[in-house]
Amino acid sequence: MAQQQSFLDNEPEQWELDAAQERTVATVLLSDGPSGEFDYLVPPQNLDPSRLEQLVEPGRRLGVPFGRANRRRAAYCVGVGVKRVDPARLKSVAAVLDAERLLSPAMLELTHWMSRYYLCPWGQVLEAVLPSGVRQNVGTREVAFFALPLDVRERLPTLKLPPKQRKCVEVLAAVEEPITAVRLTESAGCTMAPVTQLLKKGLVEKTTKRVATDRAEEEAVPRERPLQLNLDQQAALDEIHTALESREATGLVLHGVTGSGKTEVYLQAIQRVVEYGRQAIVLVPEISLTPQTVRRFRARFDRIAVLHSHQSEVQRHDHWRCILRGEVQVVVGARSAVFAPARNLGLIVIDEEHEATFKQDTSPRYHARDVAWQRAAREGVPLVLGSATPSMESWHRASTGEYRKLSLPKRVANRPMPDVAIVDLRDPGQARGGRGGISRPLHQATQAALRDGGQVIYLLNRRGFSTHVQCPACGFKLECPHCELSLTYHRQDNTALCHYCDYRAEPPTKCPDCKSDAIRYGGLGTQKLEAEVRARFPDYKCARMDTDSMRGAGAHERVLSAFRRGEIDILLGTQMIAKGLDFPNVTLVGVINADTALHLPDFRAGERTFQLVAQVAGRTGRGDRGGRVLVQTLSPDHPAIVAAARHDFPRFAEAELVARARLKYPPLGAMVRIVLRGEANAVVRESAKALAGNLKADASETRVMGPAPAAIPKLRGEYRYQVQLQGEAINTVRDLTHRTLHAWHPPESVTLTVDIDPQDML
Ligand code: ADP
Ligand code: ZN
Ligand code: ZN
Repeated sequence: MAQQQSFLDNEPEQWELDAAQERTVATVLLSDGPSGEFDYLVPPQNLDPSRLEQLVEPGRRLGVPFGRANRRRAAYCVGVGVKRVDPARLKSVAAVLDAERLLSPAMLELTHWMSRYYLCPWGQVLEAVLPSGVRQNVGTREVAFFALPLDVRERLPTLKLPPKQRKCVEVLAAVEEPITAVRLTESAGCTMAPVTQLLKKGLVEKTTKRVATDRAEEEAVPRERPLQLNLDQQAALDEIHTALESREATGLVLHGVTGSGKTEVYLQAIQRVVEYGRQAIVLVPEISLTPQTVRRFRARFDRIAVLHSHQSEVQRHDHWRCILRGEVQVVVGARSAVFAPARNLGLIVIDEEHEATFKQDTSPRYHARDVAWQRAAREGVPLVLGSATPSMESWHRASTGEYRKLSLPKRVANRPMPDVAIVDLRDPGQARGGRGGISRPLHQATQAALRDGGQVIYLLNRRGFSTHVQCPACGFKLECPHCELSLTYHRQDNTALCHYCDYRAEPPTKCPDCKSDAIRYGGLGTQKLEAEVRARFPDYKCARMDTDSMRGAGAHERVLSAFRRGEIDILLGTQMIAKGLDFPNVTLVGVINADTALHLPDFRAGERTFQLVAQVAGRTGRGDRGGRVLVQTLSPDHPAIVAAARHDFPRFAEAELVARARLKYPPLGAMVRIVLRGEANAVVRESAKALAGNLKADASETRVMGPAPAAIPKLRGEYRYQVQLQGEAINTVRDLTHRTLHAWHPPESVTLTVDIDPQDML
């Protein structure tokens, strides 16, 4: 007999009512396979208080027999309650898999919200929220602890016991906390036998606890005292304090220019949270989660947990358990740390909240900022969103009064913002003297900065050596056969590489089509720029930072430390170097090509360009020596570039929001993106057509656009089509999507992904 679906969903039939009895039922979800909720009887021993660790409760995983073969599967318990059921039709819970609750009621609610909002089965959300090391209990073992029950402690003088048992009891009476078997037997000078006897008589209590098998030693960081805040910082902190005291969810957008001391404000806000005995979660972009960042928190707080994807599963599991046990004051982590099991949450901070990495690009495609707000709302805590270039989403909410706006308009210690000059690459007088990526003004500014003992950062957001290989004779372009995108020539490993799927090809010396040997390697990548820098400035040391040069563990940190120590004069790289670095001796930043993101078919292209230029400009002028920025561009009049040069975020945002409103783009409209992909072009195209047709037939207030080939029409051998939905309110657009996809499925060979509030438009 197939397991019955939750009774909440269906009206019971009369015969079911006849056989029904009131029984305790656990409602569970599977992490994959059939979605939906399933009910199981809870065996009566659940109520046996001596087996408390066996308790069936929401938030633990249960072993349940599933399907015809009754194969044992792990399932998440999301509810336990008394229901009228026919016991003959329900199977029973077979085991409790977790010794403690992994998900609090608040976390269950939050994940349930995610499941509805992002149209992802709840069980799949739960599986994504719990680190896999936690689910598999890696790197931990159960250790037994022994203690004296209170009443035994009181009866101690009157107890009649054999000498060895008496010795054990005395050892336990002398300690405050439960101790391990090893400590107990060593102190009492006995074997386990007397302990076992005492357990049998109920005179000793045993509990078990999971402990890490190889806890990494934490480095000792010297203590730092809080800094004296300036007036703007103090005003921002006061607002956060007010929000903390209100015990209500409050969104606070902390717009602070680069170097305005946002982190100090976070640190002091967290200090208050810790004094209240609560915990804070700080989310930072994965790339900023360096030892240096963590050290800033360690210097202020004793008990820090770190959660990110480069940790070993064992480490992540260990940190997660520490948080769960309430042993941690501050959790610092990447996107998924928004799910940290803090019990008594006091504050969530998202630093660099505009970063696209806070959106997960696999299912559930959640945005940590939105999940954080949902969590803050449920737990009644403030959410601080900090950035020099806030997302349009957050800025809009702050502008409408939904969130509060906090502003740090000046750098600390009255340091000026760097002077930004635009180099118009269309102007032959300014442009590259012949070949290469460095214009005459940039060359001169670099020479001057280096001569004065300053350091220089060059940003070029393109990896590789040449970004395309083309034949001028016949028009041949070297492309990836799986993605139909230009291959990038990497001189480092002498290969032509697809940046989307990692396909590698031999770099041709002759045109494969017409055999012309005039084939050209064009376009500037960081490797070619590095060669140019070494040729132009041979007396100075140069280092390159991109995903190719930063492969080994710790490479990133090593280069940055060398740069900090002044052993490198020119640091060049991709956006990896644009973020969060604080080097007082950098007196010049050169943006080699501000236009790389400007012409992408993405409504956020302007926003991304503004962010990149503003962020990298923020890397200079952080010391007493001031700083300059040169931005090379072919679009010197583009509003994003002009505004970034003036450090005028509010003005950029105002114009950008007007433009978005006109086109009903987020945040002034809601968007859902559906991508269909598969190996057979015609099948995918026809499915996309059918889907768009169904959506259009049902849409009243929602605009259905497409189907159209995606901006990247072929990726890893699969053809891609998209359907884009836009409307006033996300609920309407999502409900339409949900309804349509409930009634229509693409053929087996087509994979469909739904992205609610998409960030990636390619
Ligand atoms: P942001 O995150 O806004 O870019 P940071 O928090 O990194 O800025 O601060 C930049 C630098 O200024 C850091 O070295 C920090 O220690 C210092 N700083 C922050 N606040 C103050 C202050 N009130 N007085 C002096 N120095 C400060
Ligand atoms: Zn050719
Ligand atoms: Zn490819």
